[in-house]
Amino acid sequence: LIPVITIDGPTASGKGTLASSLATRLGYRFLDSGSLYRIAALLAMEAGVDLDDGRQVEMLARRVGHSIPLHFDGEHVWLDGRDVGADLRREEVGQAASRISANPGVRQALLDLQKAFRALPGLVADGRDMGTVVFPDASLKVFLTASVAQRAERRYKQLISKGFSANLKEICADLEARDLRDRTRAVAPLKPAADARSLDNSALSIDESVDTVLNSWVE
Ligand code: C5P
Repeated sequence: LIPVITIDGPTASGKGTLASSLATRLGYRFLDSGSLYRIAALLAMEAGVDLDDGRQVEMLARRVGHSIPLHFDGEHVWLDGRDVGADLRREEVGQAASRISANPGVRQALLDLQKAFRALPGLVADGRDMGTVVFPDASLKVFLTASVAQRAERRYKQLISKGFSANLKEICADLEARDLRDRTRAVAPLKPAADARSLDNSALSIDESVDTVLNSWVE
């Protein structure tokens, strides 16, 4: 069986950084599942579709696979010949992704696409339901958390470094709203898998988090 390591956790907990670093260290493939929800959201926004129109958004989500390159790294995404990779990181796209991700049809539309990322020699996948729904048979499941203050600060720095404007208070409010929605939705709510290991990285550097996982948990 092809090994999979799942990293789930709330918004801006550092999942993406931990997952991509682990993938590099292990030579595994990397799946940033949030970017697939962001692509679906961007498709809906650009088409002018009402985000609450479940059927329409689900139909657009079925097209996400056509926008990503074969070796998708979560960065380059093509819509009508345009690379919209940077647009995906916008806050409003994240908000829209959070809204449409409560739609069961959207989640179903993205399921097989996510499973198809499993390839030799292995996969590191980050998201909200990687260990609970998409890869329930993963070899290692990590549930990553960090304090709201830490997460807001990291998101703030990330946005500023990309040239976006940002407001710490707004980011805090947005994080909490998104977490609440992710935790309380009916389908695939954000929660640790029964067999997940929890890691609070509030006081850890990226390297320390990577080393904790690699040295203590990877067999
Ligand atoms: O992780 P990221 O912020 O890019 O994800 C955008 C949104 O997509 C999240 O707020 C979450 O609601 C949703 N998502 C999800 N399941 C995943 C990954 C992301 O519901 N596996």
